[in-house]
Amino acid sequence: MTPIQNADLHCHSTVSDGTLAPEALAQRASANGVELWALTDHDEIGGQHRAAEAAKAHGMGYLTGTEISVTFIGHTVHIVGLGFDANNLTLKDGLRKTRGGREERAIEMSDGLAKVGIKGAFEGALKFVGNPELISRTHFARFLVESGICRETNEVFRKYLTEGKPGFVPHRWASLKDAVSWITGAGGMAVIAHPARYKFTPNEEFALFTEFKALGGQGVEVVTGSHTVAEYAIYAETAREFGLAASRGSDFHSPDESHTELGTLPFLPSNLTPIWDVLASRIQ
Ligand code: AMP
Ligand code: MN
Ligand code: MN
Ligand code: MN
Repeated sequence: MTPIQNADLHCHSTVSDGTLAPEALAQRASANGVELWALTDHDEIGGQHRAAEAAKAHGMGYLTGTEISVTFIGHTVHIVGLGFDANNLTLKDGLRKTRGGREERAIEMSDGLAKVGIKGAFEGALKFVGNPELISRTHFARFLVESGICRETNEVFRKYLTEGKPGFVPHRWASLKDAVSWITGAGGMAVIAHPARYKFTPNEEFALFTEFKALGGQGVEVVTGSHTVAEYAIYAETAREFGLAASRGSDFHSPDESHTELGTLPFLPSNLTPIWDVLASRIQ
């Protein structure tokens, strides 16, 4: 068998903050030549059964997936879990607790936006929510675009939803230790998502990778829609340095908003261990 190259192990459906259903994503991934796919909704695995079935119907391999929100040294970091048992109770319970508090946070976000004259943002964002337990900043961004307050979601994040801006509410997510142990305890592998996104200092980034590795984390995203070509090379080197397997994923959310289409990024640089080789026995 020829080795898998077109693996896309990061994207979002209506079960979190994507705009397409798991079945529509599977169809799109398959049309783009994806050989191995994973749906990685934020803090939620409610779409896993549907995604696995749809992958099978299109003849694609499937790995279970999720993307857990973590607070590490005061910053939000995302940890992708792959190849776990989606029926694992500790994982399910941990994710449920991580989702808890999103509604309260959303109400506070809405209050912050009201103070700068944007009324009804909570109700407005809710109209875009597919899963009531998973109201996210993305849904607020869609509402502000729909209302004509901003032209596109990126602009909403820049002006309203990031640190120091009126709709930003600091939030405490899962610990790195818990997120990694929920994933590995369910037989899966933990992967640091889009490391370049965190804008860490070199010392902070070293601390993240060192602690992640010590906790049993096994992978890092090298080729992702959130990285530049230069960053592929930087994180390929980091993966080798820390002895981590490498992952590849578009982080696709929506045909209208995402700049990176499913299954279209460059393949992993050579000299890396693809995480899907290590997870071969978990492929459905
Ligand atoms: P939350 O989990 O509610 O804090 O929302 C985080 C989500 O917001 C991420 O997963 C992205 O989908 C989205 N996001 C974050 N920053 C941006 C940005 N600058 N432009 C567009 N979407 C963003
Ligand atoms: Mn998202
Ligand atoms: Mn992310
Ligand atoms: Mn993501």
